Amino acid sequence: MQEVFPRAVQRSWQPTISVVVPAYNEATGLDHFHRRLVTSLASLENWEVVYVNDGSTDDTLAVMEAVHRGDDRVAVVSLSRNFGKETAITAGLDHASGDAVVVIDADLQDPPELIPELVANWRAGFDMVYAKRRSRTGDSWLKRGTARGFYRLMRRMGDLKLPEDTGDFRLMSRRVVDAVRQLREQHRFMKGLFAWVGYPTTYVLYDRQARSNGVSKWSYWRLWNLALEGITSFTVMPLKCATYVGLVVALLSVIYALQVIVKTLIIGNPVAGYPSLMTVVLFLGGVQLMFLGVIGEYLGRVFNETKQRPLYLVERFVPSAVKVSV
Ligand code: UDP
Ligand code: MG
Repeated sequence: MQEVFPRAVQRSWQPTISVVVPAYNEATGLDHFHRRLVTSLASLENWEVVYVNDGSTDDTLAVMEAVHRGDDRVAVVSLSRNFGKETAITAGLDHASGDAVVVIDADLQDPPELIPELVANWRAGFDMVYAKRRSRTGDSWLKRGTARGFYRLMRRMGDLKLPEDTGDFRLMSRRVVDAVRQLREQHRFMKGLFAWVGYPTTYVLYDRQARSNGVSKWSYWRLWNLALEGITSFTVMPLKCATYVGLVVALLSVIYALQVIVKTLIIGNPVAGYPSLMTVVLFLGGVQLMFLGVIGEYLGRVFNETKQRPLYLVERFVPSAVKVSV
């Protein structure tokens, strides 16, 4: 594999487990999060935590650096601006050196206490262990319904099996991490990328907590865009739809034309076509605009990919500990 990110230091000490934590404006809860994380990791010996500061506008970076000063198993990656959670996770994966990597949210919605169980499954031979929500009781029925609809749609459209009721909270073995790191597309639908990689996979059930503080950054508009990202990154089905809708419309118009001809021949031509004409013109105009939009979605993504920009820029990297080998 092409080395996309050079390891900063050659270490004599190798963490077995790396925990990647993307954080955007999480200053208030981060200390508490770290304490709970450390308690949860007590039963594992070699571990590091890679905090990714995703261009926070509050004191998140300062808190992270304070945590690093107090605990040298903590690494801090600070991005040059806010790149979004998916990219922040990618930056974390690039800077993690463990044999297995756990990705977890900083807002304590993913319980760190579950990590030993994820690790146990990894030791039992699984490459990917994802945490599956037992219930979505915290979510409104609208959110639950739309989520279910989305997964059903994804299953129907592509050959990619997305696990339901899971977020990014999961453990990946080194070979899965290296595989995911090779996927450098700009439009990153992480759940899809994780599923695309494959390898022996299992899951662990857990109860999702309400956010410990602050608010979720996911409005319905952002969720809609995430769904679009998921669909356009993994299937060209919407493009194919244009072909079939076009075929059906053409077929219907032939039938309609025949009907018009027959009617004209039998009862003459009283010129009464305005409403039907309007309907057809508006309908066709709408369908054409819609599929232009669909093509635009894909074209825009092709445009973004061709620029080949780096996924993120690192403003500062403080590696975790430790004895640098000489
Ligand atoms: N996050 C991030 N960059 C962003 C938005 C979010 O790194 O642009 C982090 C955030 O700090 C948190 C995690 O991603 O640790 C999940 O974010 P959030 O709680 O807003 O999402 P939800 O839990 O509602 O899916
Ligand atoms: Mg959250």
